[in-house]
Amino acid sequence: MEHIGFNKPYLTGKEGHYIYQAVLSGKISGDGIFTKKCHAFFENRFHFKKCLLTTSCTDALEMAALLINIQAGDEVIMPSYTFVSTANAFVLRGAKIVFADSSAENPNIDADKIDALITPRTKAIVPVHYAGIACDMDKIMAIADKHGLYVIEDAAQAVDSYYKGRPLGSIGHLAAFSFHETKNIMSGEGGMLVINDDRFIARAEIIREKGTNRSAFFRGEIDKYGWVDVGSSYLPSDIIAAFLYAQLENMDDIQKKRKQIWQKYYKALAPLEQKGLLQLPYIADNATNNAHMFYVVCHNAAQRATIIETLKEHNINAVFHYLSLHSSDYYHDKHDKRILEYSDHYSACLVRLPMFYELTDINIDYIIALVKDCVNKINF
Ligand SMILES: *Cc1c(COP(=O)(O)O)cnc(C)c1O
Repeated sequence: MEHIGFNKPYLTGKEGHYIYQAVLSGKISGDGIFTKKCHAFFENRFHFKKCLLTTSCTDALEMAALLINIQAGDEVIMPSYTFVSTANAFVLRGAKIVFADSSAENPNIDADKIDALITPRTKAIVPVHYAGIACDMDKIMAIADKHGLYVIEDAAQAVDSYYKGRPLGSIGHLAAFSFHETKNIMSGEGGMLVINDDRFIARAEIIREKGTNRSAFFRGEIDKYGWVDVGSSYLPSDIIAAFLYAQLENMDDIQKKRKQIWQKYYKALAPLEQKGLLQLPYIADNATNNAHMFYVVCHNAAQRATIIETLKEHNINAVFHYLSLHSSDYYHDKHDKRILEYSDHYSACLVRLPMFYELTDINIDYIIALVKDCVNKINF
C-alpha cells in the first residue's frame, strides 16, 4: 500500500493565480488588496467585529498578551493539554501560567475547575477549542464576568465551528486563529487576531505595525505617523493573504469534504466505543464539528502504541498529540504540583488518525480495518 501521511495540505488551484495578482498589484507588503479581502470575508461571514491577519496564531496570541497588558506576576488560566504557543505568548510577558485540567469527555478545559484557580492576580482565561470543538463558553464567560477577567479564545483549530449558533472566535474579548498548513484553512504559515471588544481595536492596529500609527496614516486619518506604543511586526505579506483568500473562497467545499471523512471514521469506529474498547470524540449538543481532527482516546498507552505501531507497519502515519505543558521540561518546576489527571490521560492515550482533503475512501477503509483489528485482537 502507498504511504498515507498524517496530513497533506490541500491546494484549491487558485493560490498561484492570486499570488501572481498580488505581485502584479505592486504592493506586496502587508494590508494590501488580498489582506483586505480576507478581513472582509471573516467579518461578513462570522460577524467578527474586527479581524487582523497576522504572521501566525502564535503572533496573534502574543498580540493578545500585549493588548491586555500582561505584567510580571499576572496569572493566566489555560488547559495544560495545548500547544506551547498558548502558554508562551503570556510567559514572554512575565505571566505565571495556572494550568487547568481537561474534562473527562474531551480534551477541552474543564470549566467547572476554573473558579477554584482564580486569585487576585488572575488576569485572563484562555480556553482552547481542541479539535475545533467548542469549550463551555457560557460558563467560562460567566466566570470571567464575575471576576473581571479577559477571555482570549485559542481558536487555532476552530475555523467555521460554533457554540450555540455563535461562531467560535466571536465570544471572547479576543481570539486567535491559525492558518498553519496543518489546519483546515491554511496559508503555509499564518494567523489572525479577532477583536470583539471595541476598546482593543485602535491599539491592536498599532501593536501590529511596530508600535506606530501607520494604519491610521494610510487611511488618511492623520498626516504623519510615528512611534506611539510598544509593538512588533505582526502583519503578513499580501502574498500570504492571496494564498489564504483562495482557500477561503473554497471553505464550504473544504469543510464538506473533511466532515465526510470524519463521519466515515466515526460511524465505522462507533461499535468499538459501544463495546467500551476505546473513546471517540465527544461533541456536546451546544457545539459543532468542523472536522479539524479525528482522534481516538485509547484505554492505555500500550493500546495506543499498538495502534500507532501497526499503522506504521502498514505505511500509515498516525500521531499522538500534546505532552501536558505542566510537566514539560520548561514548566514543571514552575507548576504548583497539582495533578492534572485528564490532561495526562490524553497525553498518554490520544492518537490522531490521518485527516486531510485528499484522503480517499479506500485509504479510510484500510485505516479503519487496521484500527479495528488492533483493538479487537488484543485484550487491553
Ligand atoms: C496550531 C496551533 C497554534 C499555533 O499556530 P501557529 O499559526 O502555528 O502559530 C496554537 N494553538 C493551538 C491550539 C494550535 O493548534
